[in-house]
Amino acid sequence: MTFKTTPKSPTLRLNEQSRLRAAQGQTVYRMGFGESPFMPPIRVQQALQESAHRKDYAPVQGLVELRQEIASFHSHVDGYAIDAQQVYVGSGSKILLFNTLLAFESAVVLIPTPAWVSYAPQAELIGHHVHRIPTTFEGRWHITPAALEAILSQDEYADMSKILILNYPGNPDGLTYTATELEDIAHVLRKHQAWVISDEIYACLHHQGQHISIAQYYPERTVTTTGLSKWCGAGGWRLGVQILPKDAPVAFVDAILGIASETFSCAPTPIQVAACQAYVWDDVTDHHLQQQHHILSRVGNHIQQILSQNGIAVHPPEGGFYLLLDFSPLREKLAGRGIQTDTDLCLRLLETTGVALLPGTAFGISPSDLTARLAYVDFSGIAIQQAISQSKGAIPDQELFDVHCAHMSQGIHALVDWLT
Ligand code: PLP
Repeated sequence: MTFKTTPKSPTLRLNEQSRLRAAQGQTVYRMGFGESPFMPPIRVQQALQESAHRKDYAPVQGLVELRQEIASFHSHVDGYAIDAQQVYVGSGSKILLFNTLLAFESAVVLIPTPAWVSYAPQAELIGHHVHRIPTTFEGRWHITPAALEAILSQDEYADMSKILILNYPGNPDGLTYTATELEDIAHVLRKHQAWVISDEIYACLHHQGQHISIAQYYPERTVTTTGLSKWCGAGGWRLGVQILPKDAPVAFVDAILGIASETFSCAPTPIQVAACQAYVWDDVTDHHLQQQHHILSRVGNHIQQILSQNGIAVHPPEGGFYLLLDFSPLREKLAGRGIQTDTDLCLRLLETTGVALLPGTAFGISPSDLTARLAYVDFSGIAIQQAISQSKGAIPDQELFDVHCAHMSQGIHALVDWLT
């Protein structure tokens, strides 16, 4: 008897380790697991409380009224017109990503690396061929059209479906792409009739509120995934969204709906009803997002500055709530302490300082590259939102961080003290 070997996702495993440490009364600075520090808006929470009686199954594709709200919300956020018919709702975007990959027979899946932890395991579980596209710190972890072209032209992939997974704003690196870069990527994809699954789960957390979907430039073969987990602070609600091309092939749509009906059936109905309130684009939503942009941008940039002043190579964040730390400039110093890999580094950090980071290996980076992801989410979104609303003038960065993110600030200082 043989079974598939799929270890538990590293992010979830790290979260469990950190919880264990905390349960033993030890300090943990939770910067490993990427969970939003913000709460869903009050009206969305109320809508969920009031919809507990909605016990019936919803349509597989999602409630019509929700799909309409999502279509107009994302037309606004993503910068192109989306019809409710293109919108599919599911139990979190993770299963939607998996099911989208499953809809293809024999595909090569191109994964710009570093990449979110689950893309490669998902593609491998299905039996697709995985081709990672390496990127560099100097290139801001971006893929280039030339690298994409070289891979898509390979003879061995000629008879396979070709799927690029793009993720921006990016996890683990906080990157985004410009309109020109997206247009150039779209050009290469079109030439090779390749598909793109554009994971835009952090789109609403672009720090300048200026996210652009690649679907704008490549509408015919882009599947966009998103959901409530990040911008609405509702990861545990498990509401994901998928936007298919307007004229998607009928066989593809049938496969997507068929797989959804044979796996999760529908996203929970009460959550869908509540999500109708989340996806109303009005001043409440706008304000909620702008506050998050403001806070995440300031906190992320502040940490980036502290760490880069202390020898870690790290880019300023452009969206989301992650920084990818490159400790390789400190390689000799770390080797002197017996640290050769990113996992050595993260384990030692957790043990000696309580700082929880996730090793770059989890994102497909070589262990000897000494990278780790920091999620700057160890603070209370509500408390900081209230402090900003109540303050007469602007709160200086130092105060915002040391007072309103006090625990995380201690963690960053513990990390720096340990390093220096
Ligand atoms: N994609 C990325 C890049 C993520 O970081 C996550 C969650 O951490 C997901 C997808 C999955 O999100 P969901 O909660 O919608 O399944």
